[in-house]
Amino acid sequence: MTSYVVTPLPRPSVAVDGEAGRFPVQRIYCVGFNYAEHTVEIVKDTAKTPPVLFAKASDTLLADGQELPYPPKTADLHYEVELVVAIGTGGAQIRADRALDHVYGYAVGNDFTRRDLQNHARAHGQPWETAKTFEGASGIGAIYATPMVGHLTRGRIWLSVNGVVRQDSDLSQMIWSVPDIIAEMSSYFRLQPGDLIYTGTPAGVGALSVGDVVVAGIDSLGTLTHRVV
Ligand code: MN
Repeated sequence: MTSYVVTPLPRPSVAVDGEAGRFPVQRIYCVGFNYAEHTVEIVKDTAKTPPVLFAKASDTLLADGQELPYPPKTADLHYEVELVVAIGTGGAQIRADRALDHVYGYAVGNDFTRRDLQNHARAHGQPWETAKTFEGASGIGAIYATPMVGHLTRGRIWLSVNGVVRQDSDLSQMIWSVPDIIAEMSSYFRLQPGDLIYTGTPAGVGALSVGDVVVAGIDSLGTLTHRVV
């Protein structure tokens, strides 16, 4: 039994639909610019901006129904609905044709972003950490295991703010598919059981204000609701 000199925090985890047990979270990886129409709205030129990889801290998870504290150091907090892949079996250099064997399940996520800080970082060649990692920055719904929902290659992905639909696309529009993402990600990082991968957002991102209610949904994965406070 390891002893610690300060009390360790509990491990982050996510509810699993239909299971008493929870999914223990290791790392949160993300893909940026994985839908062409979203790339255009942020950077205009899709040819110069292929999908990119980044990470968020795993203590930023925000479960369905939890309130999102409006983060400090921004005046442009954005929502981003995303399909989240939950990794059940780790590995490095995973081949795309074997990649789905590593998936435990899927969830709907919201990659909350300080857009003003991200735009500044992009313009100055700086990392995205301050734009992407803050309290509550990683909305996550319940995980649906693959025996229940299969592997998602199409289906509506949408988001509303105060009942008005702001993002409305289809998973089939992703530039890198889930197998492509796992192959690419695992060529840089050894994926571990418990890793989550946020797979990018479609067009229609925009700002949130205190008091807004943001609902994200993906067909067969339910919805994810947060109120900004
Ligand atoms: Mn994102």
